[in-house]
Amino acid sequence: MPLLDALRRPLRDLRISVTDRCNFRCVYCMPKEVFGPDYQFLQRAEILTYEEITRLATIFVGLGVEKIRLTGGEPLVRRDLHELIARLSRLDGLKDLTLTTNGSLLTAQARGLKEAGLKRITVSLDSIDDDVFRSMNDVGVPVATILAGIEAAAEAGLSPVKINAVVKRGTNDHTIVDLARHFKGSGHIVRYIEFMDVGATNGWRLDHVVPAREIIERINAELPLEAIKPNYRGEVARRWRYKDGTGEIGVIASITQPFCGDCSRIRVSPEGELYTCLFGTRGFDVRSLLRGGLRDAEVAERISAVWRVREDRYSEVRTEDTIGLRKVEMSHIGG
Ligand code: SAM
Ligand code: SF4
Ligand code: SF4
Repeated sequence: MPLLDALRRPLRDLRISVTDRCNFRCVYCMPKEVFGPDYQFLQRAEILTYEEITRLATIFVGLGVEKIRLTGGEPLVRRDLHELIARLSRLDGLKDLTLTTNGSLLTAQARGLKEAGLKRITVSLDSIDDDVFRSMNDVGVPVATILAGIEAAAEAGLSPVKINAVVKRGTNDHTIVDLARHFKGSGHIVRYIEFMDVGATNGWRLDHVVPAREIIERINAELPLEAIKPNYRGEVARRWRYKDGTGEIGVIASITQPFCGDCSRIRVSPEGELYTCLFGTRGFDVRSLLRGGLRDAEVAERISAVWRVREDRYSEVRTEDTIGLRKVEMSHIGG
């Protein structure tokens, strides 16, 4: 019997944020004014070790998790990430192991990640326009660096690469179609993400959101599209393909078309707090269980208890009041 929450949703996906640090300062995620030189990141002793992450992941697979995504912060800034991938890829019962990265360090690491057992990869790239992209990552990294990373991933056998682009009105929405055109025919899949009110520091406003419907209309006007079926139940991206058969794109519409009804995801922060929703305000401390001498079965029982009472459906009940809550930061929990 799958482990079900209070709304009868099974636990299937685990997202592990391996670090709260990042070499980018994307304006919609880690604005420099907040994440400046004095910002206190977690200390090494606070974050879960690879042994602890592997133990936790093993427990989760025992509870029904089939898919693990590593994220951050920027996962590739954590030392020897391939060692963690190698451990996780050996877990019996795990069907999918993937990673979300900003791509800036990928050229050097792609082969090692693939050899360690990584199955798929998602690379974030918000614009194909160099000036726009530099001003969005806010540390001056050029588009060419990320394109080289995507190429390296494809050559290493991590193809097709998924490419995440957050769309913020007035910032990069005028480059949506150019991004689609660039990757059309490449085999890679661009997924446009509605700017979300995660965290409490990114100055989110509803008028910054470009609805998925509008994103599709703008692309369709130049590159005709048709809707296609999801690959599986609970897939977050809605899929569209080019009518001329040269590939597909996706939109993740968590603001305008929420998908909480099928949400089977749990997230763990770098210091071992469990969040049953991306918009959570408080985590469940699992690190103290791991470090406190509990047996795996006991940890599993505590986690099950957290999942069984889960009622989260933030995106379906978003209001002016919930927008102002002190939610966990995206750079901490990883999207
Ligand atoms: N650093 C890695 C990266 O950027 O791919 C992994 C972590 S990042 C938090 C994961 C994803 O969340 C990225 O694709 C990023 O663009 C997206 N993201 C961050 N802040 C967001 C926001 N406010 N709304 C929507 N997506 C966001
Ligand atoms: Fe870093 Fe990713 Fe957040 Fe950008 S979106 S600041 S790359 S964690
Ligand atoms: Fe899942 Fe929370 Fe997002 Fe809804 S708002 S899809 S419950 S993470």
